[in-house]
Amino acid sequence: MVLLLLPFAVNAEWLGDARPMMGTEVSVYLWSDDPEAGLAAVEAVFREADRIDHLMSTYKEDSEISKINREAADGPVRAGEELYQLIERSLEISVLTQGAFDITYESVGQHFDFRARRHPDEATVKSELENINFRYVQLDAASRTVTFQKQGVRINLGGIAKGYVVERGIDILRTKGIRNAMVTAGGDTRLLGDRRGRPWMVGIRDPRREGKVAMTLPLQNEAVSTSGDYERYFDEDGVRYHHIIQPSTGLSASGVHSATVFGPDAVTTDALSTSVFVMGVDHGLRMIAALPDYESIVIDAEGRVFYSDGLEQPEDREAK
Ligand code: ADP
Ligand code: MG
Repeated sequence: MVLLLLPFAVNAEWLGDARPMMGTEVSVYLWSDDPEAGLAAVEAVFREADRIDHLMSTYKEDSEISKINREAADGPVRAGEELYQLIERSLEISVLTQGAFDITYESVGQHFDFRARRHPDEATVKSELENINFRYVQLDAASRTVTFQKQGVRINLGGIAKGYVVERGIDILRTKGIRNAMVTAGGDTRLLGDRRGRPWMVGIRDPRREGKVAMTLPLQNEAVSTSGDYERYFDEDGVRYHHIIQPSTGLSASGVHSATVFGPDAVTTDALSTSVFVMGVDHGLRMIAALPDYESIVIDAEGRVFYSDGLEQPEDREAK
């Protein structure tokens, strides 16, 4: 027995890589008994991320979503099954969040360029605001088509696609027999199993001190997403312009510095972290309280930390 196990024990190790993708960084980290198979599994996750990016990037002219944005106001456009399902899921989350999550934010969102420090002027925001309403996106399941009911409507899956990437990445690893892994795309992470006998320690960034961690959560087998106003932004005349848009105003959402959501599914935690950010502390945490499998931690604009109902506060934990 011992002799048979030894060669495996000697070769088994943690493997991984991190690469710039989807305008952020994608990373894969896993334990494998067989390093060669482990490295192949890491590659498979990056290939999957690249494939999904080609379906869902609005920066790529030839992506499926770009075709929908060009043509869906003129009539039904057939979508691939995955894109269709993700749009459908996005619309469900719009209903759940009373429009805080809205993929048609892109009508205004397309006028931002954070690297070039460009934001839409007041007149543009005002006219594009007319095109923000998830109800303009009509789906037909039988023909699997998407139609926009108004000219000028645009969609962007940036608030949910990275969650899909990490969920798919973990699926791939699982089918390859991996049992301990972490896949991250930007602010979205999905954990498979634990860190071999210990929980994974996932840090939530301090929203105003780069490189500092506000708190660390011990998690296993779970998804965790953080949305912050420090990912893609610039400051101008005391106003922070960042990538999370309040659909009711067409402006960057204010009031919260970061919103973290964790639970069983990364597609959902991704969309919900964006949603809680938009909804703010009270509305956001009340929405999360109605979802038994999901919890949230919000850091507001004063740096105060708020926890959803199902979470024990750190003080309580120490007191027990
Ligand atoms: P990250 O991209 O850093 O992981 P989020 O998950 O919070 O951050 O997603 C932010 C992205 O979601 C934005 O870059 C944009 O593509 C998209 N987005 C912005 N506002 C909204 C909104 N109100 N509803 C849905 N998606 C949004
Ligand atoms: Mg999100």
